[in-house]
Amino acid sequence: MREELKGRTAYGAPQLDVPVRLNTNENSYPLPEVVAQAVEKALSDEIRGLNRYPDRDAVGLRTDLAAYLGLRAEQVWAANGSNEIQQQLLQAFAGAGRAALGFGPAYSMHPLLCLGTATSFIDAGRGEDFGLTAGHAVDAVRRHRPDVTLLCSPNNPTGTALSLDIVEAVLAQKQGLVVVDEAYAEFRREGTPSALSLLETHDRLIVTRTMSKAFAFAGARVGYLAAHPSIIEAVQLVRLPYHLSALTQAAARAALAHADVLLGTVEAIKQQRDLIVSSLREMGWQVADSDANFVLFGRFPDQKTAWRRLLDQGVLVRDVGLDGWLRVTAGTPAETAAFLKAMKEIR
Ligand code: PMP
Repeated sequence: MREELKGRTAYGAPQLDVPVRLNTNENSYPLPEVVAQAVEKALSDEIRGLNRYPDRDAVGLRTDLAAYLGLRAEQVWAANGSNEIQQQLLQAFAGAGRAALGFGPAYSMHPLLCLGTATSFIDAGRGEDFGLTAGHAVDAVRRHRPDVTLLCSPNNPTGTALSLDIVEAVLAQKQGLVVVDEAYAEFRREGTPSALSLLETHDRLIVTRTMSKAFAFAGARVGYLAAHPSIIEAVQLVRLPYHLSALTQAAARAALAHADVLLGTVEAIKQQRDLIVSSLREMGWQVADSDANFVLFGRFPDQKTAWRRLLDQGVLVRDVGLDGWLRVTAGTPAETAAFLKAMKEIR
């Protein structure tokens, strides 16, 4: 085994069978019936052709995803979750002898994807309040000269979106590629634009998205990126042939044909998120502003004890390894009620 992998434990949020599962930022709502039926039909149409390999370049799916984003298919690439998208980006643009820069606490898979691709990961950190300023980001880029800069907006686990001037300031350094992980983009509060709006003017920018969150499609594993077509040509050099199964492509296309219905839960989830933020603040907890479908809250003298006490009441939240803080996913009103009740119990 590679030296740097020895003694490590695999990534894994606990998958426990408890009544209220609010630990992996999934969409709590099952697929609406009309979408479920469309996916069923698409899959059954596909089954008899499974003797053949799927469309290697997933052109149909990329065309549909591009239409959703208001882009062209050559600007979009799809893979098994945005995790795989980011892995492919690191394979193509980072790897041995190269470095990626991140600003932790951010998505915990970023350093792990670097580990897997033999990319050095540099964590430039954030302010005390988990905020990130353009000055801090630019200083870090100038100091470390990374091949890839990883920004996360809305940021997991803190929840807050980056203002575009930070992304623009980093892009203005013309240093390597800049990846903005927008897995939670659809949950942003009003007035926070997506980095997609910078694509036309910035060839070094890559925006990664997913169908796992707002689209309630985590089990199907579909993520995608938007970037200049030359980036996608580079990614095609490292992707495994036929990486996206025919079933995945068919299911995703059927789901995207009902994007408006699928995204129908986003507003309801945002309401629950805002309710969790305001309720926890009223109870005296510190809560980070959230543009996502989750909320970071604290501070606990010991978050591990608090996590266990919530679990004892059937509520599974996430200990993201930040001293004093826990993260909870916003789901249905019943889940919010159960979570807030459990929080009152553990006071
Ligand atoms: N980026 C962020 C910030 C995430 O939180 C997640 C999921 N937890 C992902 C990417 C990956 O999601 P998926 O692979 O399901 O698209």
